[in-house]
Amino acid sequence: MPAVGIPAGTALACALASAAALCLVAAAKRGTTPPPDKAVVNATPGEVTGPQARDAQPDRGRAGKSGRDRRRWARPLAAVLVIGAAAGGASAARVAAISGGPVASMARDGEAAWLEMVVTGDPQPIQSTTDRVDRVKLKARLERVRNLRVRLPVIVLGDAASWRDLAPSSRIRAFGRLSEPQQMDGTIAVISARGRPILQRGPSALQREATALRAGLRTAVSALGPAERGLVPGIVVGDTSQMPEELSEQFKRAGLTHLLAVSGANLMILVGFLLGLARVVGIRGRLPPLLALGSIVGFVILARPQPSVLRAAVMAVILIVATLTGRQRAGISSLCVAVCLLILIDPWLARSYGFALSVLATGGILVLAPRWADRLSGCGPGSVGAALGTVGRLRRLFAESLAVPAAAQVACLPVLVMLAGQVSLIAVFANLLAAPAVAPTTILGLLTAVMAPASQSGAAFLGHLAGLPASWIVRVAALFAELPGAVLPWQSGPLGAFAAVGFLVIGAVMVRRVRRSRWVGLTCAAAAIVLILRPSLSVGWPPPGWVIVACDVGQGDALVLRLAAHTGVLVDTGPDPRPVDRCLRDLGVRMLPLVVLSHFHSDHVAGLPGVLNGRAIGEIVVSPLDDPAENAVHVRRWAARARVRVRAAVAGEIWQVGPARLTVLGPRVLLGGGQVNGEGSAANNASIVMLAELHGVRLLLTGDIEPPAQAALLSDGGDLHADVYKVPHHGSAYQDGRLLAAVRPRVALVCVGAGNDYGQPAPRTVSALKDSGATVLRTDERGDVAVVLAGQALRAVARGRSP
Ligand SMILES: [Zn+2]
Repeated sequence: MPAVGIPAGTALACALASAAALCLVAAAKRGTTPPPDKAVVNATPGEVTGPQARDAQPDRGRAGKSGRDRRRWARPLAAVLVIGAAAGGASAARVAAISGGPVASMARDGEAAWLEMVVTGDPQPIQSTTDRVDRVKLKARLERVRNLRVRLPVIVLGDAASWRDLAPSSRIRAFGRLSEPQQMDGTIAVISARGRPILQRGPSALQREATALRAGLRTAVSALGPAERGLVPGIVVGDTSQMPEELSEQFKRAGLTHLLAVSGANLMILVGFLLGLARVVGIRGRLPPLLALGSIVGFVILARPQPSVLRAAVMAVILIVATLTGRQRAGISSLCVAVCLLILIDPWLARSYGFALSVLATGGILVLAPRWADRLSGCGPGSVGAALGTVGRLRRLFAESLAVPAAAQVACLPVLVMLAGQVSLIAVFANLLAAPAVAPTTILGLLTAVMAPASQSGAAFLGHLAGLPASWIVRVAALFAELPGAVLPWQSGPLGAFAAVGFLVIGAVMVRRVRRSRWVGLTCAAAAIVLILRPSLSVGWPPPGWVIVACDVGQGDALVLRLAAHTGVLVDTGPDPRPVDRCLRDLGVRMLPLVVLSHFHSDHVAGLPGVLNGRAIGEIVVSPLDDPAENAVHVRRWAARARVRVRAAVAGEIWQVGPARLTVLGPRVLLGGGQVNGEGSAANNASIVMLAELHGVRLLLTGDIEPPAQAALLSDGGDLHADVYKVPHHGSAYQDGRLLAAVRPRVALVCVGAGNDYGQPAPRTVSALKDSGATVLRTDERGDVAVVLAGQALRAVARGRSP
């Protein structure tokens, strides 16, 4: 799950409202229905009878109906109010601690110091846009800075070589520069470490064991193909360090990414397997539930006892108890209690998409999956085990393996829509196809990890077996990622989420209505298939009268200025040859008299081969600073092969290209690094800054300049006012507010990849742009975006995310 925060106010309100709704539903059901006999029949002997039964009995006998009604609503309501107040207080205290303390002010000032920290998460490789692929990011707890003792969550960025092998619970000392985090997620600072960490105390025995088991699993599957080798540890313990980037991308497009996060589902699979095994072998009584709990403890160690794993364990225990006792309603009320408690302990959870998805999936599995499984298998509700023959049991198993992922997906849909701004029509189908392979992969992978310390060859054998179902999942992901129309653009944010909920409700009602008629059902199914497989339509693109298009090239810049039919100026190429080639082809641009590469970072130049592919290029103008040097070499080599001249821009130059007049405003001087989380660099500040005047529209194109270069631009004293503003550095948090005031744009273009690791664009930058009155267009939300001249007016046209 990308680290994105739900807007704070909405988040807490939503979390509390849903917790309240859960409590109320649970309470209402408790009051109206008699205790279910079925549950008693299905309950494992010796297993607890849930709190409901005990509460419901006296309730039914007591007092009049109205008194009971009042009590039924009053108690949960009071509970929710108390919890709300407590959570509000706790989060206010946390906010005060984070924004008011001395560490926060050090972060604001960008101070550097010696720091003592305890590692709390595994180092993750950073997908860098700035060619420092050799860096990792990890979570830690800051314990001492200068002479101050503290306990504050931080994120550390360090060199992969010396930071990669740190295990959680290690205590380290390191020198680093503090900066403000780009998101409000409870982190107090981002620390850019300089040099290697000094180990003060190694990891705890438990964590050492976990590290060894995880390493054992990686080794055991190392003989598999690259995709399976990366996928098995990802599915089993959420270790995605070996996942090839292309596979991650396919998972994202097919809607399978949630398989890679440790969730209640992993544990449910494990526990289900153990309980089933116990039943087959003939162990009954108290032992199987104890076995299940033991396996949860083991799994928590293996997947690292970190908050997300512990939460998954809580959800799993709820699911297990609900399943064992056959009481879904008990499950719902315990889920409600767990959510309230967890939010009390850590109010920031209310803003975490991962947590929201985990809760929704558990709820979906509890509420929807059993009913759907009943329908699909054609059995009466709750008919399990002995009553069914072998065929019946297989049917039931099949029905459940379909119903569980589908229920989880439907329950998560509103939040997934809010997160991505799109509905994945095929995600449900991809999940259905992948689902049967998830359980075998998980179980075999876990066995591999457990076997590894005992026997390498045995583990390698099991690893091979785990690779078989994993390769099925890889194939499903590859197939579904390629389908046209895989993704339906959707309004993002809370509005989109509400709309999605609305459609789900309407859909459910319609399904109820049409279920009786087979023909209506078949027509709906056919329509769905057509919708999924429809060719991607590209009518209405490019919009007539377009002046500039920001191409959706993922995390990077690529902007096209229109000179005439089939002719344009390209500024930057994005990180990858294919998307920029696609964008230019869709615009019909075959001639580029001028290509400007603002600076040499990969997210601005690495797509150049795709641009040169079959197009006539006049010349390429580059930044005067050859940094990173190897990219400068690549660019010159590609250009030489295509026989295109390359030269460096000089500030003050004016180029007249067809109807476009381009004035080079910067860089006048080459500056040192900026102050952005260790990404700040001379290269960014050496970006070519241009004012383009075209068809009567003024456009300011700014590359990746950071505050030092922004200040330099301002101090030059030229007229920076522009109608269209390419927001510097993908809308990062580091903006000189005076620049926006000087530009006063009508349209702001933010070129940024969805779900990038930098938290770009920063919410405060986006809100500053909106507050200034500009229309903000983001390529991560809207796909290719065009600014169109209609008479005297400027209009923004978005194409929507392309599949
Ligand atoms: Zn960039």
